[in-house]
Amino acid sequence: MLVDLHTHSTFSDGRYTPSQLVKMAAEAGIGILGITDHDSVNGIEEALNAAAAAAGAPVIAKGVELGTQVGESSVHILGYNIDIHNKNLLDKIEEMRHAREKRLHRMLDKIGALGYHITVEQCDPKNRAVGRPHVAKALVKKGYFSSVEEAFDLLLKRGKPGYEPQPKLSPEESVELLHGAGGLAVLAHPAEIENLPLVNTLLSTIPFDGIEVYHPSADEKMQQCFLQMAEKYKLLVSGGSDFHGVEGRFPEQLGIFKVYAEKVNIIQKMLK
Ligand code: AMP
Ligand code: ZN
Ligand code: FE
Ligand code: FE
Repeated sequence: MLVDLHTHSTFSDGRYTPSQLVKMAAEAGIGILGITDHDSVNGIEEALNAAAAAAGAPVIAKGVELGTQVGESSVHILGYNIDIHNKNLLDKIEEMRHAREKRLHRMLDKIGALGYHITVEQCDPKNRAVGRPHVAKALVKKGYFSSVEEAFDLLLKRGKPGYEPQPKLSPEESVELLHGAGGLAVLAHPAEIENLPLVNTLLSTIPFDGIEVYHPSADEKMQQCFLQMAEKYKLLVSGGSDFHGVEGRFPEQLGIFKVYAEKVNIIQKMLK
């Protein structure tokens, strides 16, 4: 059986609605689908409803991906089987969303002064964790750049003139929040941290439940390295495609990055 425990919907920066993801997952033979929007659990209910209504639909893993920061490194943490009504979690997410909306205004002012004129509406922040990907898309749509990548490379990434930092949670705080909501906390795509000593420090000092070993960012050698870490720190093994449905970003289709159920023992805890 195939699973995919890491996907993004229109409730963060994904292209497809939760219902569309459920349909595509069913067509791709995915038995368990994790909906893991950035700093949002608002897409879960739609996914659960869509899955309940369709024969052959995947089981939905109720997830979230919290963006945290350690120094210059961005550290993403996946939560699974969370209570999507947990007050602390929802309050914190709401606080982050407000911070993101304020940051969007600052970012638009900044790039406006540089001659790039984008409105808040064009970034479509409604009901989601709005960020640089939305600004990049709006910039491409208006013809300022030929691709999202180019908008990041020339304007939006750290060190470029349109960069505006986003206040983030700490990993400790995030893991605590997820545990408080009854969930499992998984270190997302450790290869993207590009700092193995930091990965070791995080895993040895913070009570993570799992590590995302299988992810497009990790080649076979890195997967082996992360499997060893899973063993060393007694962590569950997880995996997902990080599907956004965005052109030019692998995987462009759901199901082409394959995660096999027997390789990700976290599902045993999920299905309990
Ligand atoms: P934000 O949290 O708003 O600062 O945006 C972070 C998100 O932007 C990440 O989760 C990525 O999805 C996306 N991102 C970061 N760097 C790039 C890049 N160079 N090209 C395309 N997308 C990027
Ligand atoms: Zn994303
Ligand atoms: Fe991520
Ligand atoms: Fe992601």
